[in-house]
Amino acid sequence: MPIVKAYAAADSKSNIAPLSIERRELGSHDVQVEIMYCGVCHSDIHTARNEWGGTVYPVVPGHEIVGKVKGVGSAVTKFKVGQTVGVGVMVDSCRVCPNCKNNYEQYCKEGMTGTYNALERNGSGKRTMGGYSAEIVTDENYVLNIKEQENLAGVAPLLCAGITTYSPLKFADVKKGTRVAVVGLGGLGHMAVKFAVAFGAEVTVISTSPSKVAEANKLGAHHFILAKDADSLKPYDSSFDVVLDAISADHDYTQYLNLLGLEGKLLVVGLPEHNPKVLPFALIKNRRSIIGSMIGSIKETQEMLDFCHEHKIYAEIEKIPMGSINEAYERMIKGDIKYRFVIDMSTL
Ligand code: NAP
Ligand code: ZN
Ligand code: ZN
Repeated sequence: MPIVKAYAAADSKSNIAPLSIERRELGSHDVQVEIMYCGVCHSDIHTARNEWGGTVYPVVPGHEIVGKVKGVGSAVTKFKVGQTVGVGVMVDSCRVCPNCKNNYEQYCKEGMTGTYNALERNGSGKRTMGGYSAEIVTDENYVLNIKEQENLAGVAPLLCAGITTYSPLKFADVKKGTRVAVVGLGGLGHMAVKFAVAFGAEVTVISTSPSKVAEANKLGAHHFILAKDADSLKPYDSSFDVVLDAISADHDYTQYLNLLGLEGKLLVVGLPEHNPKVLPFALIKNRRSIIGSMIGSIKETQEMLDFCHEHKIYAEIEKIPMGSINEAYERMIKGDIKYRFVIDMSTL
């Protein structure tokens, strides 16, 4: 088994620290990727700190991976050595259930296999290990093609933050004139703003951070609401067609449901530790709905990457060395990042 350098959490309280891990031998359909950049998603923090339960230690987080193909298995047809590729949140699924067969493998009936903290499907009993690492070995069907470009570090966050916001905005048919509010201007939220603007929507950012007013405008948003408290949203009752909720911390849905006009949709992607509250009266008014969404399929992720390449859409990033990961987590929790940390894996 090849041994590679990585960074892992040893338990829910410990810092992320160096660890050598085993990668599986290259199978006939596997692609060996030398990792160049890995984005830092808030899900990495939730998992490293066991905020959702179910973390098995040691865990190597990281699922916004861009790198170069270093080796390919004998039966690989989609990728060649030297090619630039991406690996996102999902590295496998059952491949035979109706959802897998219909390009919804993120909703695989057996549950998709996450890039970290999931059981490998090859029966080894081992856990998947993510992108805070020198290399990863992934089945070619779950590897994305990245077109050659200068800003590969700015592409990495598209593999999670990008697809997770692109997919529900598409599902909700956001287009020219749709009144969209994005709540929580973090890694996911800022990508949601970029996509909603690219789709022609009228976009409002709702944020708790006064320091983000100017940037929201630079991202293309048309309006900004500073959510100091529940009262600050009252004047906007029934004003939006779509509200995308990308908040990582505990909060109630009701104040955001109240923002929706007739048949408005609350798109939920944020996954806080504790369950939010929903008032049924806020739901029945205007025949509102709450729609959850988990990443996107491999097909849709490729479509999103190609869309971003065509429209020159990248994440706004701050590049960090691997050794700064713990400080980066603390800054993310404080909201002190505009808008995504990306680890330069050459510093590993
Ligand atoms: P992030 O970069 O840390 O951004 C989260 C944002 O939430 C912050 O920038 C902040 O925005 C807002 N926020 C934080 N605390 C808040 C509070 N107490 N009240 C109101 N707003 C608050 O996180 P991320 O990486 O974008 O991830 C966001 C969430 O999506 C996480 O829970 C993550 O696990 C989840 N996620 C879901 C999927 C999926 O498939 N559904 C995929 C990836 C991630 P402001 O400063 O603008 O207020
Ligand atoms: Zn993520
Ligand atoms: Zn399946």
